[in-house]
Amino acid sequence: MKYISTRGACAPQSFADVVLTGLAPDGGLFVPEHIPQFSIDEIASWRGLSYEELSFRVMAPFVADDIPEVKLRQIIADAYSSFRHRAIAPLVQTGTNEWVLELFHGPTLAFKDFALQFLGHLLDYLLEQRQQKVVIMGATSGDTGSAAIEGCRRCSNIDIFILHPHQRVSEVQRRQMTTVVDSNIHNIAVEGNFDDCQNMVKSSFGDQAFLPQGRRLVAVNSINWARIMAQIVYYFWAALSVGGPRRRVSFSVPTGNFGDIFAGYLAQKMGLPIDRLVIATNANDILHRCISGNDHSKQALVHSLSPSMDIMVSSNFERLLFDLYDQQGNAIQQLMDRFASTGKFELDEAALRRVRGLFASCRVDDEQTVAAIHDEYTSSDYLLDPHSAIGLHAGRQCRVSAEQPMICLATAHPAKFPDAVRKAGYPHTPELPQHMADLFDRDERFDVLPNDLSAVQSFIASKVSVL
Ligand SMILES: *Cc1c(COP(=O)(O)O)cnc(C)c1O
Repeated sequence: MKYISTRGACAPQSFADVVLTGLAPDGGLFVPEHIPQFSIDEIASWRGLSYEELSFRVMAPFVADDIPEVKLRQIIADAYSSFRHRAIAPLVQTGTNEWVLELFHGPTLAFKDFALQFLGHLLDYLLEQRQQKVVIMGATSGDTGSAAIEGCRRCSNIDIFILHPHQRVSEVQRRQMTTVVDSNIHNIAVEGNFDDCQNMVKSSFGDQAFLPQGRRLVAVNSINWARIMAQIVYYFWAALSVGGPRRRVSFSVPTGNFGDIFAGYLAQKMGLPIDRLVIATNANDILHRCISGNDHSKQALVHSLSPSMDIMVSSNFERLLFDLYDQQGNAIQQLMDRFASTGKFELDEAALRRVRGLFASCRVDDEQTVAAIHDEYTSSDYLLDPHSAIGLHAGRQCRVSAEQPMICLATAHPAKFPDAVRKAGYPHTPELPQHMADLFDRDERFDVLPNDLSAVQSFIASKVSVL
């Protein structure tokens, strides 16, 4: 399988090359040249498979030429062995024909573990094959950093540097990163905000001359195709669990960068009968404004109770636009140019009609978020984190029918966001699972650096192991 850029101006590349870079050289995002198709009968025959075996069936066609079957199976088995639930992704029924898909049983208690545990083992394999070492550099406002660190901590061919804004991430989130003390893990607290961190990462990808010779940067944010690919699996898993594929289903997805929900879109294209995908946003609602009123315009960032969805622009939306515009790379280039110069664009009629055929959207502000958390634990003793609460609330607003299953993705464990849970009136501090109960007693290791690109880059150059 080859991968092409959404801007249409670079040669097709292999799976391995795509995973080991970030953006395409023309500034676009990589997507598969064609999408594997499964018949209803084939999907139906997967009922009863383990999560790992299902992962293999769904992902194999995407990587076929680059990884032997036994290796792919091993990578999958290793990735999901760190999850602390036998079902990996259990479903909890929260209403009539309504389920929550719990995606927070991985090592860092957020759904990003599904992709980053897989990516860590995948990179380890690919780098071992090529006898290469790489540097991972990423910026985080919370969940991505810890999930990336947990995914890569045992990879001897990777040095990982995660930038977070000093004193601006929650204590649970910081400790999940800084208490991992393996020698290839480096946490940098930047004396600036999240945008400063992200800009430093972007500039560093643009000019990698600061790295020791022979090293290059690999991206672990959701522009990395392997992350999206691993997330397709749980859409099949959930649908099969509630009567699919013969029974059609819908999903509601708390959305930030549009990575998770784009995986749902791909599942649908691969043949899974999904009627509706609900884009659930917080007050940072660029996608909701785009779908409901054709207003894709940048607005000031709002700091919400669901910080992992606090984004101004969703980078993976470009992957959907590429399909909405018949895979015309030059049309995407034009839209993106317009967006860069004016801060907004509008979809044409055909594109708008298409996107509305599958997607619905709902904006859920902080007040509605805490109300949703409160309602759920008072009516059924089920405690939601703020991101998952947004998904459930939006799912209820956007039902196709009372009979059709609505599956709402729960993307984080409530103990990661104790402040929001307390604001919702919950009378206790939500408890961390047993394996993390001593998080607040563990030693931390991180370096505080000034908000200065060259300081950060020289720090990285000095820490990259040269062996
Ligand atoms: C990252 C994240 C999201 C948003 O996922 P996207 O793929 O960026 O849309 C939602 N909830 C939680 C808890 C997250 O960590």
